[in-house]
Amino acid sequence: MNGLMMNYPLTINYILEYGNRVFPHKHIITKQPDGSTHKYSYNDMYKRTMQLGNALKNKLGICPEDRVATFAWNNYQHLELYYAIPAMGGICHPLNLRLSIDQISFIINHAEDRVVFVDATLLPLFQQVAPKTPNVEHYILLNAPKDIKTTLPNTMHYEDLLAGESEVLEYAETTEDTAVGMCYTSGTTGDPKGVLYSNRSTYLHAMALNMPTATGIGTNDTVLLIVPQFHVMAWGFPYSCMMIGADMVMPGPHLNPAAIIKAINDEQITVANGVPTIWQGVYAELKKGEVAIPSFRSLLVGGSAFPKSMIKGFEEDFQIETVHAWGMTETSPLGTLSRLQKHHENLSTDEKYDLLATQGVEMLGVEIRIVTEDGTVAPRDGKTVGEIEVQGNWVVSAYYKAESDNFTNDGWFKTGDVGTLDVDGYMNITDRTKDLIKSGGEWIS
Ligand code: AMP
Repeated sequence: MNGLMMNYPLTINYILEYGNRVFPHKHIITKQPDGSTHKYSYNDMYKRTMQLGNALKNKLGICPEDRVATFAWNNYQHLELYYAIPAMGGICHPLNLRLSIDQISFIINHAEDRVVFVDATLLPLFQQVAPKTPNVEHYILLNAPKDIKTTLPNTMHYEDLLAGESEVLEYAETTEDTAVGMCYTSGTTGDPKGVLYSNRSTYLHAMALNMPTATGIGTNDTVLLIVPQFHVMAWGFPYSCMMIGADMVMPGPHLNPAAIIKAINDEQITVANGVPTIWQGVYAELKKGEVAIPSFRSLLVGGSAFPKSMIKGFEEDFQIETVHAWGMTETSPLGTLSRLQKHHENLSTDEKYDLLATQGVEMLGVEIRIVTEDGTVAPRDGKTVGEIEVQGNWVVSAYYKAESDNFTNDGWFKTGDVGTLDVDGYMNITDRTKDLIKSGGEWIS
């Protein structure tokens, strides 16, 4: 017998509506390329997202299932695109600007992106891509001066696109399974492969991020989204923060340690996400002793292993908690997170740091197993090494228009990572089965 509850779908549109209804006064703050700060409310963002949705349809002819790409830093316009594209049934496709020109053009052509939104600061780079992507119909420039010169064909300024459009939007029809976002991974050898996130996977992943056992971010936090929006949808933070009404700070191109520290102090940031190189840089800067970040309480780190010495250093030198996470483009990305539990209280300090430096335990919604070379599932003994396989609510089931032998017959995804699971379920990655080409973020100036 089925339950008699409403089938109220889990969608991105609902997150946007909820954020505007419950937290209209919360803020989105962007560090602009020229060093100035742009600040507006969730409600302002909502109104412009409605306008953008209308413009996508009326001025660019975007229809359901169309892929719309972005080539941009983390900023408020990029956030508007994250919500407006799916609102029209389109698929938001952030392009990884750290890939090669050939890879970026391959990805645009493979995804058949109809429109690309390009940050003006990235024009010199993108102009090398565009001659190889003749099927793109429009290029929209973000943050560009009116008189900017570009070799891109069919360009329009972002603000001109929005101009004159209504702040009332009719959403395209959507279901939980409708694709809303897309990221390509260059994680293994061969051509980059596309991962298509659905309304449902995106919603559930974001909701799980907000559990106290996960990021632990709350409505009174101010969150710095350092992870690029082109790296696995900024790890889902644009959705999870809106679900709980956290203030969001977008760093734009300012990703060097001094700029991050300045943003933390300017905006009284409490939490941020980032890859290890970011946090190693911030740690070294703080160690100079010239500046402190008293508002900051917790960092979420992943993308590659974060050393125990760093976790200890942040905690003991600066009283900043580290949450070490593991994931991949194919897992939306968060799959495991490391936090101590009550029964770890009696461990020595050193043992506690050992545990925090593991990749941690599965999030609710994700299941991990270790499969040894002979194909058997390894016991959770902390010793038996094998390939990490994963399944769950936000794990890829197939690549977009590409074959792969990464999927097992019994419904698991083979990650290519190698490691162990201990008796408490803490995962320790020790190796990779294949060479890894990272699609994740390094910091640039
Ligand atoms: P990407 O899809 O580019 O984000 O890369 C995913 C890969 O990054 C994973 O398969 C791992 O090899 C690696 N990775 C991510 N997080 C961690 C972590 N916390 N520790 C070790 N490796 C990690």
